[in-house]
Amino acid sequence: MPVSPHVPTLPPTVDSESVDPAVDAAIDRESFDPASPEEWARLRDLGHRMLDDMLDVQSTLTHRPAWQEIPAAKRLLFDEPAPIEGIGADAAYARFRSHILPYGNGNWHPRFFGWVQGQGTPLAMLSEMLAAGMNPHLAGFNHAPPMVERQVVSWLAALMGIPEAGGLLVTGGTAANSHALGVARFAAVRARGGAVRDNGVQHWPDQPTAKPLVFYGSMETHGWARKAAEWLGLGDRAFRRVPVDAAYQMDLVALRRLIHTDRENGLDPFCVMGTAGTVNTGSTDDLRSIAAICRAESLWFHVDGAFGALAALAPSLRDQVAGLEQADSIAFDLHKWGAMPFECACVLLRDAALNHDTFSASASYLAETRRGVSAGGVFFADRGLDLTRGFKALKVWMQLQADGVAKLGRIIEQNVRQAQHFADAVASHRALELLAPVPLNIVCFRYWTDSLDEAALDALNEELLLRLQERGIAVPSSTRIGERFALRLAHVNHRTTDDDMALVLSAVVEIGDELVGGSGTQKPPPPGS
Ligand SMILES: *Cc1c(COP(=O)(O)O)cnc(C)c1O
Repeated sequence: MPVSPHVPTLPPTVDSESVDPAVDAAIDRESFDPASPEEWARLRDLGHRMLDDMLDVQSTLTHRPAWQEIPAAKRLLFDEPAPIEGIGADAAYARFRSHILPYGNGNWHPRFFGWVQGQGTPLAMLSEMLAAGMNPHLAGFNHAPPMVERQVVSWLAALMGIPEAGGLLVTGGTAANSHALGVARFAAVRARGGAVRDNGVQHWPDQPTAKPLVFYGSMETHGWARKAAEWLGLGDRAFRRVPVDAAYQMDLVALRRLIHTDRENGLDPFCVMGTAGTVNTGSTDDLRSIAAICRAESLWFHVDGAFGALAALAPSLRDQVAGLEQADSIAFDLHKWGAMPFECACVLLRDAALNHDTFSASASYLAETRRGVSAGGVFFADRGLDLTRGFKALKVWMQLQADGVAKLGRIIEQNVRQAQHFADAVASHRALELLAPVPLNIVCFRYWTDSLDEAALDALNEELLLRLQERGIAVPSSTRIGERFALRLAHVNHRTTDDDMALVLSAVVEIGDELVGGSGTQKPPPPGS
């Protein structure tokens, strides 16, 4: 039976009765979609098992190891060549269950605090399934999914205090920040009468020699900035690192001085990046003052708020990131403190037209039509690098619809309360030392004993970290604070209970005591002494 052009409404399930078996057989082809009702039934059964398994594991994570090593025998599977004939979906899933599922990096676990990695939520997981099932193409145009992304971006912009911003969802903070810096570079060159899209940053013989563009961020700026400087053709030399003060905030006197000496030396400053929530210690630069400096010096003001920008959603923390709303661009992740599964980040551009002018590229095969699928709507491909884009926005939209912004704000507040409570416990413990202030959600600390010198303390704390991970108790990561090896808890975990925090604290002390043979500790000197 031919498909009627007037098929009225969904449900969109394939109605096997309506397919003439003779016609079906005549189409001699293979498909990844099961053809028979029995196959669909088997797939449905498999899907239900997958769902049950994931929910079973997610609801019992606290009783499972936070991380475990992949046994050597199981690693062998990952050396197998591409299967020429398949083993079937059931067998493939069995392999997933035995060889992959137990061996993630642990970031979904309630006692995971490594790097800055979010946990994901069950609802967002299900939303990912809906998005992948529907599989729309998010370049833009006239369908509901781009309207969802446009709405999500405008919600986020309003929450950050820049209601009319352009922007889009991208893979992560690195991409979001790099997009922003690209727009800043475009705007700077245009303001100087140049055309970076035509000429790049090269000195063509017919172009007046331009001065080297330089931009500023603190020494605590995340590593994305170096990559972006290189990739945008500015070069790492263009990224001017400004010293920080004792609170790990950008030293603004040094910033002003550097801008002026750079100008005197023939360089061309175009942008200052403030960080809301630095990766090492969670400090936030004085964004209001940076905004004022940028206005006075005619510089672009960018905020890297990879995780910290979301503090704006928590009433008690909003003040810490004040000034954010004055930025020309903000980049932040939703897969860190926004609880979304990877990947998801957002870049906002105050000037939507500049965003468009930086990236737009017309092509006849992408031309807008008056009606139909390609009629109107936001064309996201003109706001960033990617043409083909997935439906990341759905998980954000679903989670915010379900829980509201206020709940996310409360979870962020809970994380900060737990981190600061942990820091207080560290500071008053006989055998622990706090290594940096805890303005937000990152605790840098170490086990300490007066019987060991600095080098031995570094070695002890590294071994302590590895034992914590290998025993499956918890996953902190590490950093260096000054010269010292620090255990680092970056707490964006919505699954963590107060009991989990207490368990981590006692495990650190226990393993530390075990490593020094249980003796020789006394109250350490106060931090900074
Ligand atoms: C994590 C982080 C980034 C990079 O974000 P990704 O999502 O990992 O690419 C940038 N800046 C800061 C401050 C971060 O914490």
